[in-house]
Amino acid sequence: MKTFKFAETSVFLHNQDLPNLLDHNGEIGVDTETTGLNLSRDRLCLIQIGVSKNECHLVQFEKSELEKESRYKNLISILKDKKIKKIFHYARFDLAVIRKFLKVNCENIFCTKIASKLVRTYTDRHGLKDLCKEMLEIDLNKSQQSSDWSASQLSKNQIKYASHDVIFLFELKKKLHEMLGRENRLELSEKLFSFLQTRVDLDLSGWMDSDIFSH
Ligand code: MN
Repeated sequence: MKTFKFAETSVFLHNQDLPNLLDHNGEIGVDTETTGLNLSRDRLCLIQIGVSKNECHLVQFEKSELEKESRYKNLISILKDKKIKKIFHYARFDLAVIRKFLKVNCENIFCTKIASKLVRTYTDRHGLKDLCKEMLEIDLNKSQQSSDWSASQLSKNQIKYASHDVIFLFELKKKLHEMLGRENRLELSEKLFSFLQTRVDLDLSGWMDSDIFSH
């Protein structure tokens, strides 16, 4: 395990599994990095688990190890834990990747992108960078977004970028949750978060690009 420190955040890079017990407050921020955005072609390289704004754990996957899910026992058990709320930004993709490579059905989800689309109806800018800028006044540097996440040695910049994708999710969720309540859209958001399971089923079975509800 390697440790990094960026401002107030400690980042732990694991190449085996997460530590046995992670301290969290009932919710974690989750993101994945892959070799690309095509679910049938690309593979999982890194998963980021933020436990607070100040602590983030990264698990790196080697291609040859990906088939051995038993190696990631602690990671899988935290993702499977229905009592823990998992916060994503664009959960649809990450959930499909997690389902495909770790064989985990991740439930109890909050997706900041879906929440944003439900309440920030005055804009069509729902990227993580847009949310951080408008809601938290944080300028997210996305320069490492399309970098080689399959490299066996990740750069310091990649580590920092990866952690930034999860550590702000807690504050974003809090603000979006308030807005959803204010607009009476909490129940609708919950239904959408639950529907993500079905959306992922469709994505992984060939209905990725079609809207099954369209005429
Ligand atoms: Mn990311």
